Amino acid sequence: MKPDLREIATTVANDPASYKLCAVCGAIVDREVGSCPDCYAYRFDMDVSHVADAALDLAVMPRMAVSHFDLMPDSADEVDADDES
Ligand SMILES: [Zn+2]
Repeated sequence: MKPDLREIATTVANDPASYKLCAVCGAIVDREVGSCPDCYAYRFDMDVSHVADAALDLAVMPRMAVSHFDLMPDSADEVDADDES
C-alpha cells in the first residue's frame, strides 16, 4: 500500500518529539536513527517546532517524483509467491 503523505505528516505532527530533521536533505526521520536513510548524513535538527513545521510542509507538498513505493505492488495479496511451481 502506498503511504499517504498527509497521513504520515499527521503522525509526525502529533508526536514531533519522536522525530528529527536531517540537516542536509531535510528528511523527517525517527529520532533513534544514527544517520539519514536518504542521504547518509549524520547531522540533525532536533528542534521539535522545526519538525512540526516540516510535517505541515509535507502535508501540502505536491507529488514531484516517483518513489520506490510507486513501483511496489499495491497489495501483498496480489503477489502469488507460489507461482514458480
Ligand atoms: Zn538526509
